[in-house]
Amino acid sequence: MEPFIDLNVRSKKNLPSKSGGDIEISPTGIPICPNGSKMKPNGFDKKLHRRKWRSTPACGCSTAKYGRTFDTKTKDDPRLFPKTSRGSERWNLVYKRRTSIERSNKREKVDYKLESGRHRSTLMWYIRIYATMICQHMDAWYVHQEQELGRVRLEMDAFIAA
Ligand SMILES: [Zn+2]
Repeated sequence: MEPFIDLNVRSKKNLPSKSGGDIEISPTGIPICPNGSKMKPNGFDKKLHRRKWRSTPACGCSTAKYGRTFDTKTKDDPRLFPKTSRGSERWNLVYKRRTSIERSNKREKVDYKLESGRHRSTLMWYIRIYATMICQHMDAWYVHQEQELGRVRLEMDAFIAA
């Protein structure tokens, strides 16, 4: 299971890194080189769950030929260094799915008052959750058909205009 957690970006301060010594970590999880510049993504080691970063030689923070490099490890801080890079296509997809599940839970609990039932038996709970889910499907069908009908109308308008 990979957690998809919101970043708390209220903090503006860089943090010391756990392994880097003179490298700091920005509040959004980007390593900052000793010269104070943001390091650039430089690949990902899937096996070790490490994201690689580098500072260009032009930065001057290292005498190494290809500049300073640094690794961030997911296990050091899964929130700052998620396995799936924050803002990537996959991240956005999973994140969107997570928020839609939360919306669905809210709809069941709050709007359809799932927990207001005063029944004790498991059977009654099942009946209530089934009824709630039927309502959710009806909501979805309605939205879907509304869009569908809108498309049909546009096509008809175009047909009439032609
Ligand atoms: Zn640098």
